[in-house]
Amino acid sequence: MTTPDVNGRVLLVDDDEMVRILAAESLRHAGFTVSEADCGEDGLRLFDEQRIDLVLLDVMMPGIDGYEVCARIRQHSLGKWLPILMLTGLNDTDSIERAYASGATDFITKPINWLLLTLRVRYGLRASRAIQDVARSQQSLAQAQRLARIGNWEWSRADGRLSFSDETRRIFGDVDLAGSATPSLFLNRVRQADRARLDTARQTLLREGSAYQISYGMLREDGTLLEVFEEAVPISDASGRVIGAEGFTQDITERVQAQRRIEHLAMHDALTGLANRQFFAEMVSVELDRAQRLGSSCAILHLDLDHFKSVNDALGDAAGDRLLCAVADRLRSSVRGADLLALNPPLRAAEMVARIDGDAFTVLVMEVRVPSHAAMVAERLLQAVSRTLLLDGRELVLTASIGIAVFPRDGDTVEALWRHAEQAMYAAKAVGTSTYRFFDEEMNKAASVKLELENDLRRAIARGELRLHFQPKVDLASGRMIGAEALVRWQHPQRGLLGPGEFIPLAEESGLIVALGDWVVAAGARQCREWADAGWAALRLSINLASPSFLQDDISAKLCAAVRHAGISPQQVVLELTESLLMVDADRTITILSALRDEGFGLSLDDFGTGYSSLSYLHRFPIDELKIDRAFVTDVALGGRYAAIALSIIELGHQFGMRVVAEGVETRQQAAFLLAHRCPVQQGFLYSRPLPADRFAALFVNRQDHDFRQEFLRAR
Ligand code: C2E
Ligand code: MG
Ligand code: MG
Repeated sequence: MTTPDVNGRVLLVDDDEMVRILAAESLRHAGFTVSEADCGEDGLRLFDEQRIDLVLLDVMMPGIDGYEVCARIRQHSLGKWLPILMLTGLNDTDSIERAYASGATDFITKPINWLLLTLRVRYGLRASRAIQDVARSQQSLAQAQRLARIGNWEWSRADGRLSFSDETRRIFGDVDLAGSATPSLFLNRVRQADRARLDTARQTLLREGSAYQISYGMLREDGTLLEVFEEAVPISDASGRVIGAEGFTQDITERVQAQRRIEHLAMHDALTGLANRQFFAEMVSVELDRAQRLGSSCAILHLDLDHFKSVNDALGDAAGDRLLCAVADRLRSSVRGADLLALNPPLRAAEMVARIDGDAFTVLVMEVRVPSHAAMVAERLLQAVSRTLLLDGRELVLTASIGIAVFPRDGDTVEALWRHAEQAMYAAKAVGTSTYRFFDEEMNKAASVKLELENDLRRAIARGELRLHFQPKVDLASGRMIGAEALVRWQHPQRGLLGPGEFIPLAEESGLIVALGDWVVAAGARQCREWADAGWAALRLSINLASPSFLQDDISAKLCAAVRHAGISPQQVVLELTESLLMVDADRTITILSALRDEGFGLSLDDFGTGYSSLSYLHRFPIDELKIDRAFVTDVALGGRYAAIALSIIELGHQFGMRVVAEGVETRQQAAFLLAHRCPVQQGFLYSRPLPADRFAALFVNRQDHDFRQEFLRAR
């Protein structure tokens, strides 16, 4: 007799025919479908062939017994969660235990209560279905979590540990964090910028029981950056105390990256990757606000390639595009601080470049202190563009024209500045190729004066219009003149004798400072030689050298060659350097200075106290002498704040075993004060102004045996 197996199919395995008949009868009556087997082997075969929902299994049978059948079913792929009820003898605790041990779900004792049998079977099936449902839903949850890259986790306050689901572990991709992680260990791996935010959210959750939603970045073990979204809620005990937290974390890396790509595309020019017009305009307006607030200035440069249209027509659009990319690369690498913008969070760059359309680019120059600063940037860009380009094996030279508009003078909105920069660019094109023009005519005049002066200076060095003047350095301890400082002058054919203040800054801006330094060293060394020939070898000559000269790779060899060429030794020369040198690249500077000192050059730090030297690292530099800046010396005898600084510098120099020189000494009071405070070596108008070589020589001849101490401190 068969009934449809709506309630389930039961496999009944028993060698006792009587049991089988009665059991099958009551089960069928209760609506189950029953398959019968009279031995273990048959039972297993039926199990294989049919879809069985529950097994009723006798223990004692000929052939393989019930325990063995049970164990084999459990190993079957369909048998893992199947309810198996074993028929055991009453009070036969041994077989009951063995039944459980071999994997039985439950047992029914013989003799069988037929009414109870159907109930036990029904509840056995129901329980098994519930278990299977849970297993299935767990499986599909895991599957869904995997698909959505969502993992869950739990943190318990009791042991302070985080426990992760498989997917969470997969997301973080880290065995270290799995299972045993503590919140602080976890936090260490969170991106610095997000750390405080996440920590605060978690602390608030624990303290106040408030749920949170947050996204943050995290460093995976393999070094890749993971972006996640996390939601968490508190777990509370019966009294409402928060005893932990649980939440889920979703891997949103791909979404974030896609978002960034979209943002990048929206803000950048697709061809060159430079900022596009909109993005640039936004940056400029931010900068204008800032400049307005701080009362500072900035400039917009409009750069347009010369004759690009004909190049493009001749080469074709594809080659034209590649050319634009090459120009974009050059501009990108010639603006300063562009790499700062790529940081997360972006920092302010000094300059920023964008492509606005076709062959037109634009550059924002921030912090323009003097208009010539913008002109320097323009020159730098023009040079970068006009270097020979290689395209498809062909050499090409492109040039550009630049128009400059300066905020606030030429406009105070992005549009106005842009328009004026473009107008200025057309004016530049009208003049010729590879040039720049300011929108403002006065600035153009100033720029051309500067340009003229720069050309003049270049010629001045070549034509020998530079002169050295010498100012004595005296030692009040002995009363003698012990050296001189060489100070450069420019005998300008029209403008007369110019002091260094009028051309050194220009020389530094234009890079001429290195050539100027070379000239000074050579001329100074020749002078030293003359003094030595006259028998004044004890006079040491101090020479000012700007940082760009010092930082030349071969400076030590160059200086040695120069002094040897003049026939003097490095011991006769003291090199005066500026504090700014110590700021650049300390390790490199130390190497260069050590090499120079090994050669025998004296090393002096000029204008000390005006820069930003950190006293703590001053001693790392091999320096023999500190020159107290004039500003402090002027104040010295008046007992002001600066006097205290002068005294600390003297003290500091002595501590580090350096000689301290006071410069700009103009009065006897200053001289006496400095001498009294252990600073006998002095220089200043009190003793002599800087003099041309012949007058200096005359002074020296007259005063060779002169006692300056007697002269100037006599009255005291
Ligand atoms: P510095 O090296 O600190 O030179 C000292 C300056 O102070 C000189 O100005 C000198 O004339 C001036 N001075 C000396 N004693 C007194 C005084 O008692 N009272 C006043 N008011 N001033 C005094 P100078 O010659 O105009 O040079 C200015 C700066 O130009 C120098 O400052 C140095 O930084 C730079 N310089 C001069 N010659 C050279 C050079 O050959 N190469 C380089 N790179 N820079 C140079
Ligand atoms: Mg000096
Ligand atoms: Mg000085």
